[in-house]
Amino acid sequence: LLKPKKLIAWSYSRLSIHRECPAKFRFKFILKLPEPPSPPMERGLAVHKLLESHVKTRTAPPTLGKEFAHLRPELRTIRDRHPECELELAFKRDWERVDWFDPSVWCRVKIDVTHDLEKGAARTLDYKTGQIRPEAHEESLRLYGLATLLRRPELKRLETGAWYVDHEKKPRVLGVYEDNLRRFVQDEQRYWEEQAAPLNKDKRFAATPSRFACGRCAYSCRRTDSAGRPGPCADAV
Ligand code: SF4
Repeated sequence: LLKPKKLIAWSYSRLSIHRECPAKFRFKFILKLPEPPSPPMERGLAVHKLLESHVKTRTAPPTLGKEFAHLRPELRTIRDRHPECELELAFKRDWERVDWFDPSVWCRVKIDVTHDLEKGAARTLDYKTGQIRPEAHEESLRLYGLATLLRRPELKRLETGAWYVDHEKKPRVLGVYEDNLRRFVQDEQRYWEEQAAPLNKDKRFAATPSRFACGRCAYSCRRTDSAGRPGPCADAV
């Protein structure tokens, strides 16, 4: 049995990995075994950084190459709306806000960009590189919506959206919340408490191999690192 020294804080991506395979979670976040670099992930990080500095820099934003020329008008609109970028929000188990590295932190949410639309209305966005998959992204946007509303309880309307920057000129709206926001917050809090419970209770972090998960897992014994050593997981299929 593993006895983590402290509460394991979760984020949407951590939760996704635990859902996929708890052993992968253990290798990655508890044992902190390095993963080989993944070109799509590295590109995603670079694009996020570029868009962040483009939206944040008020005087001379960095040049957007041809690849992202289609994003310029909407980025200008966002820049004019005093956005907050790479916003880090952390919560305790009772959803009270705490500092990002507070020992009692239970949930962490990082928001790519959020800005006002008009008085009492805001929009929270997630930049997405790669394929357009709103059905796969709707759930995480609900968590970002919840975090936005917990931070700004005065809002009367919130839009959440995914911006498929490789394909689309504007963000796609995935959620509009304006009626009974209190109810939305309560329902989402309950939902995420249920979703996080298996991770919070886990002591074994047992492998749940599947072709899909193992096929792309850096820890599979069927994969070798640059020195030719196989990954640590013998359960891989
Ligand atoms: S190889 Fe498969 S079983 Fe092993 S950690 Fe990765 S996903 Fe889990």
